[in-house]
Amino acid sequence: MIKTIAILGSTGSIGTQTLQVVRQHPDRFRVGMISANSSDTLLVEQAREFHVPHVVICNPDRYAAVRDALPGVAVHQGIDAACELVRRPEIDIVVASMVGFSGLKPPLAAIEAGKTIALANKETLVAAGSLVMELARRCRARILPVDSEHSAIFQCIQGAQGNPVEKIHLTASGGPFRTWPRELISVADKDAALRHPNWSMGSKITIDSATMMNKGFEVIEARWLFDMPLERIHVVVHPESVIHSMVEFRDGAVIAQLGTPDMRIPIALALAFPERLELDGRRLDFSAMKSLTFEEPDYEKFPCLALAGEALRRGGNIPCAMNAANEAAVKAYLEGRIRFYDIPDTIARVMDTIEFKADPCLDDIFSTNDEALRLSAL
Ligand code: MG
Repeated sequence: MIKTIAILGSTGSIGTQTLQVVRQHPDRFRVGMISANSSDTLLVEQAREFHVPHVVICNPDRYAAVRDALPGVAVHQGIDAACELVRRPEIDIVVASMVGFSGLKPPLAAIEAGKTIALANKETLVAAGSLVMELARRCRARILPVDSEHSAIFQCIQGAQGNPVEKIHLTASGGPFRTWPRELISVADKDAALRHPNWSMGSKITIDSATMMNKGFEVIEARWLFDMPLERIHVVVHPESVIHSMVEFRDGAVIAQLGTPDMRIPIALALAFPERLELDGRRLDFSAMKSLTFEEPDYEKFPCLALAGEALRRGGNIPCAMNAANEAAVKAYLEGRIRFYDIPDTIARVMDTIEFKADPCLDDIFSTNDEALRLSAL
């Protein structure tokens, strides 16, 4: 059976790797819709190569260029168009890989329409985890994780036969600053922060890895995806990034998922689940692997990780405020306007000043995001 997929954020890192999987398996997938924020040239190339019938460009300044380059293709503009298109009956799977809070609305629309979601956008669960999971339950939408750690946990749980998971061990590479002293990190510029040791990703998520906020986000995602309380999610630094995460059962047995750092593996699994597709990537070479090492995260050097735990404990709209403040601070850092530790300082300040809402509705989430961006003021 051929599945029709919609890719939100098709020109980003996850989007292009999703299309690599499709390219290797043209008999399994067709692309029903792609969207991008402003990378119009690549978007047009993708639309031509994969014969995509619906194309969305969010940035209004790039709309005319895309429309003129794609005669005979339905070219749409804006996020609302993406929300409409993911609901179309021919779409089976929606790959949610837009970056940032602005990527929240289309996956929500897809969940409402009962689609299967291959979820890569972290903000969806960080900002609105309980609402999103409740909506998915109600609309019978399946959420399959694309993030390597959550895909690993998901894979480890497949063999559980209904046995409860006692603990999740969420692995972290530690990022580019793992071995740096705090004094050097405090003056490190974005070029140093963008040099991730193991994974090649977009700039926002690479900075989030350098601050370890990315791991904080992943703790929050794991809390919602696997209905696991914070106390039973253990972050362990594993610099080799060979083990992508582990689950522990009540008899003490631990199941781990291993692989090369290749995002196409979790992407292909989410697209074809429960089937595993053939992929042409590099394989793990155990004889060349000298050792696998583990250490506890350093919460002093990486305060963002502790802030994420605090946000989850406080609950309500606080994780949403934390995410917005982080988004504003990372942007300022990438533009060279603030220093590294101004990122956690900004987040902490916004988390302390935002008006607390214990049980936010979706409108509250959007207003919290706006208010937290305003409070960030960098
Ligand atoms: Mg990850």
